[in-house]
Amino acid sequence: MVGRQVLALVIGVRVPARQQGKGACRLRKEVVGIAIVRRMDSCVFCSLPAVRQRFIVATRLSAAFPTNIPIVPGHTILIPRRHIARWDELTPAEQADLEALRQRICAALRHAFGAEGFNFAWNEGKVAGQSIPHLHLHVLPRKQGDTGVWQYEPRRFLYRPGSRAPSPEEELQEVAALIRAHLPPQRE
Ligand SMILES: [Zn+2]
Repeated sequence: MVGRQVLALVIGVRVPARQQGKGACRLRKEVVGIAIVRRMDSCVFCSLPAVRQRFIVATRLSAAFPTNIPIVPGHTILIPRRHIARWDELTPAEQADLEALRQRICAALRHAFGAEGFNFAWNEGKVAGQSIPHLHLHVLPRKQGDTGVWQYEPRRFLYRPGSRAPSPEEELQEVAALIRAHLPPQRE
């Protein structure tokens, strides 16, 4: 279970004498509860004091702070305060809070860093390059001729290697139909 650990709470229970068989222990250990706790102690976003001290703003549900390895100046990370790994684990309230925070941060980055555009990105799952199992959204303020770019091609991950010939319309419609056929019902 990624990011979580199971704790069994064990206490000693004194066993009445009449229930004690020959050689029985006076104290019987019993599992009185099992708690699933988030493994927050090993998460840099949850446990690193430097991250907390770097908070630009924090609400009850989310927080924003500059990353320590910025791709461009002003590169900001947005996180839910709760330690979760995936976007789908966000509650509707957390999603709304993150979105409100994203808008505030973008407004600030337009003023503070002259942002003319943004890259928004998050990696979800190890296979997609998620290195910290705490959901985090990258917000990169971009502007013409910006500096600080380091081995980064803004649209690189949206390109495929080799031929870039457009796919046939028919194939694209098949893909659309396949995805549509698997859409969960719309939530009310
Ligand atoms: Zn965390």
